[in-house]
Amino acid sequence: MRESAKLEIASTPENIINKTDSIALRDISTESTSSSTNVQTEAQSKNGQISKESGLTIVRRLSGKKSQQQSELEQYICSDSQPPSVTTGYCSYLENRLKMQPTSLNDDLERIDLTTENLPAVDTPDACDKAAIRLRCLLRQLQRGEISAELLQKNLHYAARVLEAVFIDETNDDGSRLSTEPSERDGHNKLKKSNSIAVTEHRRGVPSTPQTHSGPTGLPDGKNAVGKSFIQRRRLRQPVWARSSSQKKRLADEDDELSEVQPDAVPPEVREWLASTFTRQLATTRKKSDEKPKFRSVAHAIRAGIFVDRIYRRVSSTALMQFPPEVVKVLKHLDEWSFDVFALADSGNCMPVKYIGYDLLNRYGMIHKFKVPSATLETFLSRIEEGYCRFRNPYHNNLHAADVAQTVHHVLCQTGLMHWLTDLEIFATLVAALIHDYEHTGTTNNFHVQSGSDTAMLYNDRAVLENHHISAAFRVLKDDDCNILQNLSRDEYRELRTLIIDMVLATDMSFHFQQLKNMKNLLTLAEPSVDKSKALSLVLHCCDISHPAKKWDLHHKWTMLLLEEFFRQGDLERELGLPFSPLCDRNNTLVAESQIGFIEFIVEPSMAVCSDMLEIILAPIAPIANSNNNNSLSNKAISSSSNDEVAANTLNVPKEASSEAIVCEKKDDKPMSGDVEKPTRFKIKKPWVTCLLENKKIWKEQAVKDAEARALAAAEQENEKKSLEIPAVETKVEE
Ligand code: 5GP
Ligand code: MN
Repeated sequence: MRESAKLEIASTPENIINKTDSIALRDISTESTSSSTNVQTEAQSKNGQISKESGLTIVRRLSGKKSQQQSELEQYICSDSQPPSVTTGYCSYLENRLKMQPTSLNDDLERIDLTTENLPAVDTPDACDKAAIRLRCLLRQLQRGEISAELLQKNLHYAARVLEAVFIDETNDDGSRLSTEPSERDGHNKLKKSNSIAVTEHRRGVPSTPQTHSGPTGLPDGKNAVGKSFIQRRRLRQPVWARSSSQKKRLADEDDELSEVQPDAVPPEVREWLASTFTRQLATTRKKSDEKPKFRSVAHAIRAGIFVDRIYRRVSSTALMQFPPEVVKVLKHLDEWSFDVFALADSGNCMPVKYIGYDLLNRYGMIHKFKVPSATLETFLSRIEEGYCRFRNPYHNNLHAADVAQTVHHVLCQTGLMHWLTDLEIFATLVAALIHDYEHTGTTNNFHVQSGSDTAMLYNDRAVLENHHISAAFRVLKDDDCNILQNLSRDEYRELRTLIIDMVLATDMSFHFQQLKNMKNLLTLAEPSVDKSKALSLVLHCCDISHPAKKWDLHHKWTMLLLEEFFRQGDLERELGLPFSPLCDRNNTLVAESQIGFIEFIVEPSMAVCSDMLEIILAPIAPIANSNNNNSLSNKAISSSSNDEVAANTLNVPKEASSEAIVCEKKDDKPMSGDVEKPTRFKIKKPWVTCLLENKKIWKEQAVKDAEARALAAAEQENEKKSLEIPAVETKVEE
């Protein structure tokens, strides 16, 4: 037992992972690696893989000969004739149009090869043609009931992405924003310039350049890449397990009209663009009419994109992971501060990472936004779960990972933090929480350093475990069947990776005081500029040490598990002839006292600074942040924590909230107190406050009892000693 533990600790991450380091480019079946045009460039190489979408699509073509397919496409998408409302069936609209096609096209459709291996990159003109003709072909085959589900899915996926990449930026006059990476975009630029149409990447609200993650209170200031559209009211998705088939249908039918498109159905930029395009203001600022994109045609394109995307979702949703009924029962409480992750593990075959990970990534819309294939996510989460179980740790295992991820979720959705973040930042935060202790050895960094483990050697005694968690998890992501990041662009991948690295490295407890001090100092400034990465790192760190701030039963369980892990390390230290690390000697550790110290000196100050930070950064978006409780689809229980330190119901908008950069949907929000002169500071709910007080109180009572028990034991020992000593003295006297 001991021997095997030693071996495990000595093994390097490479030994553990044993995965190929090859940087072979991925072959994505539904996307092209070759193109009939020469626009297949480095742009498609991203994240060590073949890029699936560069986001730049030319809507207009170079003059010259149009292929028949091109003309068809233009008739199709750029038609000025009004398409029927989707309620009457876009399908029948397309079919009717198809019926009107010349015979030669019909013949062409018969000959189309629907395999998706050699399609052009989604951001090329050729892709538009291909997608359109394929859609027609699919419709025809659907009508005959001939199409295979797989081919349908692959082709719809491709078409959806082609349409997603379509965006014409009317506001861009000089074309300077055409490309962020000229070498990648050469092929496109030639086309764009010749057409005098500015095209830019506006996909999913993620700018094409990596964000700076900063700004005064992290807000857009016009100088960084964080645009105002990122401050948006988010709505969490309904959990997969909560969708009945009739609900699924309703969801698909509800938002038929473009004007009613839900915020998460199209990128906010597209909504914004559509809205602004319809106003007079913009019409007057337009230049020559011949430079205008045909607005209607783009609207049609987007409408068609939404349509295709919806079909794709319908098809792909059939493949979503199944949740056992017992798991569903527990997950209904996922939004609660004191969520019982032990109950989830009991009900879900001890796979809490898989169920929580999947549920969260779905609820925040990450699966959809970042095109994470369902099976890949399931495999990835299972691999991560396995890694957490590798060393059979009592504390640092898959339950802890799930617990931290759930706590992060609580903060994101209940404080309103999610409204401050981009999709990519939310994705990074959730993944960081899930992997943050991946393959933890059940021993501390200090133990790795003192014992000179291979991992300590590899990382030069610095943040040994944290470096390993990140590195090993990213190696898992390199496996094709686990790569949930496969559809991220290169920039997105870079940004997400940097964020995850920053966040997980900051869970090293040796950074704790520095981290807190830095944030405190920052918050005292008149205009604090909170870096997104720093803010999220502090949130993750707090969630990592949050169990003392949960309900007693949970906290007590975690404490016992952690101590057992510490004591096992102590056993090992004794065996290796190393001095005991603090709290690791099972015979000489004052549990209650140490817990009081941990709460008072570590947890309480951390939660306090984190709360202050959240209140400061969220104040400017108070009305949106305050709407958070409406986000909970599965849980109403959080609102029952009425005994918490809650001043949160106030909808007061602090001074900063008048900033122009802020998009407040609730324009009629008024201070509840009516005290307009002196607005109450924006407050978040803090369910942890009462828990911390309660737990501290219990530990203090326990400490008194323990002290009494120790005194009693000492007295008994003394008596025993005395009783042993007396006969000796008597014997001496007798002599
Ligand atoms: P983690 O190792 O989970 O990434 O970082 C959290 C660290 O906080 C743990 O390793 C441990 O050192 C400390 N910690 C978490 N919970 C407790 C607790 O209840 N008591 C004490 N003394 N330390 C804790
Ligand atoms: Mn942890």
